[in-house]
Amino acid sequence: MNDIGQKGYLDIIPPFLSKETQIHYYQDLERNIKFKRNIENQFICMKGFSSSTPLFHSVAFDEFSFGGGLYFRWNGKGVVVDPGIGFLSLMHKHNIFLADVDIVIVTHSHLDHNQDVRSIASLQYDLVNQRKRTNKFFSSFFTVESRDSAYHIEWYLDETTAEMMKGQIENVHPLGDMCDGKTHDISSALDIGMRVFTTKHCDFSYGIKLFFKQKNREFVWGYTSDTGYFDGLSDNLEGCDALVLNISEVDSAEYNREQFKENHLGFNGCVSLLEKNHPKLTVISEFACMRGDNRHLIVKNIVRYSDEQMKLRILPAEIGLTIDISGEMMKCSICGEVVSIKEIYSIRSEKDYWKIRYVCKDCIIQAGNFR
Ligand SMILES: [Zn+2]
Ligand SMILES: [Zn+2]
Ligand SMILES: [Zn+2]
Repeated sequence: MNDIGQKGYLDIIPPFLSKETQIHYYQDLERNIKFKRNIENQFICMKGFSSSTPLFHSVAFDEFSFGGGLYFRWNGKGVVVDPGIGFLSLMHKHNIFLADVDIVIVTHSHLDHNQDVRSIASLQYDLVNQRKRTNKFFSSFFTVESRDSAYHIEWYLDETTAEMMKGQIENVHPLGDMCDGKTHDISSALDIGMRVFTTKHCDFSYGIKLFFKQKNREFVWGYTSDTGYFDGLSDNLEGCDALVLNISEVDSAEYNREQFKENHLGFNGCVSLLEKNHPKLTVISEFACMRGDNRHLIVKNIVRYSDEQMKLRILPAEIGLTIDISGEMMKCSICGEVVSIKEIYSIRSEKDYWKIRYVCKDCIIQAGNFR
């Protein structure tokens, strides 16, 4: 090494050191897309099949057929529930960025419910730190407005997930501390409330009820998460406008309604719950369908049992299913038009495990005869 060369290099600051950090790609994309999208006051399902199948599906079918997680948007705040396998990429695919995540709720520590907690935390860490680095450089020239609050997240976690994330995240609230039958405010604007109850699934597993509040009224969404049917379940979910039920695999004994599954709702659990509770809208989620894609057949039979007099709307869930928080309107998967949920037909895919589509009456012919 020659002395002059070494000294010369050290004296000149290489130009790359004064460049913006990569964070600007993420933030530019976010800024551009924000104007084009409409996610306000919507529920977006990003959950496909249950944990018994995603690893098969990802190989045999579509890497996004499993998914993990639900996203609720209310008054500019984003609530993520159970970010399982592939949630983060699905979230970005749906034009939702980390700044759109304010609250993360994890009901239990199974990979289809919490695998992407680490990814979210890691992205949060990177964004905050890259911004600090960028700000540090630019603040020597300009006054930089701090936007770190944009990446602030409040975490409501089951105890096992909280333990797993110990030391990696801040603002953690164990769900076990909230099972007191009361509604807890989970947004600083006091417009989102949550009630938590224990479920029959594994150590530290919970179901939730979310209250989206407006001046004159509120919309209540219940989520069973994974649970066997139990006596108090219907009381815990009383008065919901919409319910998201995780059904899992349907077995012959419980399909005949002779018994219940131990740790999942199954067919009998869903029907039994809907016999007692009559939400305007029910979304059946987390199918296992290990013996073939029977999502529509299962839902049709749940409707037959529970819908005859009630005129409830019961839909099979799919990644991308988007419904207004009011539970009254939703987007047609083909034309993108937002119409009354009563005018939407769910259309099964032409192949097993492919995407379900939700189409308006104008698009039904185009969708083909797959009802
Ligand atoms: Zn699950
Ligand atoms: Zn589970
Ligand atoms: Zn349409």
